[in-house]
Amino acid sequence: MLTDTEITQIVREEKTTTWQLTTQSANKIYSKNMILALGHLPSDKYLELKNETPTFYESPWKDLSSIQSDSSVAILGSGLTAIDTAKLLAAQHHVGKLFFISPSAQLPRIKGPATTSTYSFQYLTPSNLTTNLLTYDHVMQLFADEMSRATGTSLSVDDLLKIVKSGEGKDAHTLLSEEVKLVDSGQVRQWQVALSATFYNVLPILTQQLGEEDQKKFRSIFFPLYLKWIAGMTLGNAKEIVSMMDSGQLTVLSGPKCILADEKGGIYHLTTHDDQTLSVSTIINATGTGHSIHQNALLSQMEKDGYLSAHPLGGIAIASDSLVISPSHGEQTHCWALGPTTFGSNPLVYATETSAMDAAKIAAHVLKDLTHVESNTPVLTK
Ligand SMILES: Cc1cc2nc3c(=O)[nH]c(=O)nc-3n(C[C@H](O)[C@H](O)[C@H](O)COP(=O)(O)OP(=O)(O)OC[C@H]3O[C@@H](n4cnc5c(N)ncnc54)[C@H](O)[C@@H]3O)c2cc1C
Repeated sequence: MLTDTEITQIVREEKTTTWQLTTQSANKIYSKNMILALGHLPSDKYLELKNETPTFYESPWKDLSSIQSDSSVAILGSGLTAIDTAKLLAAQHHVGKLFFISPSAQLPRIKGPATTSTYSFQYLTPSNLTTNLLTYDHVMQLFADEMSRATGTSLSVDDLLKIVKSGEGKDAHTLLSEEVKLVDSGQVRQWQVALSATFYNVLPILTQQLGEEDQKKFRSIFFPLYLKWIAGMTLGNAKEIVSMMDSGQLTVLSGPKCILADEKGGIYHLTTHDDQTLSVSTIINATGTGHSIHQNALLSQMEKDGYLSAHPLGGIAIASDSLVISPSHGEQTHCWALGPTTFGSNPLVYATETSAMDAAKIAAHVLKDLTHVESNTPVLTK
């Protein structure tokens, strides 16, 4: 295993049908088979602020230690990445004010207690989902009907979207404080059991059945909100976040409507959706994973050289059954991809379990080649 090694270029030697990988220190690695498991693509939001000043962090996965502990920090986003960012700052004893700023001003829900409860679908059933005429509107109606059944409350599609968007009309602090008490008491929530069951039972069918335009609509309107409800935070994290909010250190705001950098530098002025203005010395983009392969230099190079292409819904295009890149060339490319960079083909790739299943599929293909052990062995040369 080569750690601290970044691959900066990948080319294919057509004569030997071997992949040649170049590391940042110009070492070469040769391998017949290659699997791209490059993880999350960088956020494609707030690119205009990139390189603006040294106090704008395009991602929280940088060294944050130079942020002054008493400075005010705007954290763009209010999802799991924003929560991790607040925890990172707390771990380095940050005492200054923190602001989560996102359009919804909502935090993810809290993961419920482990339960043996199961849920049988009445509306989101395979037979209802495999109709040839499946549309975004039809799917949303099935979700609304199923959630009405699970919660015992009659919900229209608008009601459902309103709830997932606005967190039942309560502000983030109130909702999270109430939810911590509920989850701490061990209460199992039926909406959570039902929604969790949709992840592996419903999403794979939708990915197959919805046409491209309806799929785009589903992924851009409902899916990000759905993820906030289904991919919840842990109770431990929720308690930490509530205590930061109780002390007044952390506030969740809706926005930003606009961000202006002070000409003298070092200060940003942000306007929220309800026209509050806020001055902070640091901004961290914590909006999570992006979808454009053009934000990744290696994937951009591979696309330019014709080894792979972008999926219209984001990430790398792969064959959904074999997971090979550049599906038009088939398996002879000997290159597969899995994990978050394959989001376009499969929205389930954000869960590590999906990567495990996809890795097993790829391993089966690679094993077919094991008779050529010699040519399969990766070689490292200077
Ligand atoms: C805030 C957050 C919370 C999450 N919570 C959960 C959860 O609760 N449960 C769950 O199942 N999933 C969760 N996920 C998703 C989960 O983290 C990912 O699905 C998982 O990490 C993907 O694993 P991976 O190995 O494909 O990618 P990663 O773990 O991202 O690993 C990719 C690796 O590739 C390396 N790399 C990238 N480019 C190059 C290059 N050019 N050369 C060499 N190396 C390179 C990176 O340095 C990294 O080591 C969460 C994700 C986030 C962001």
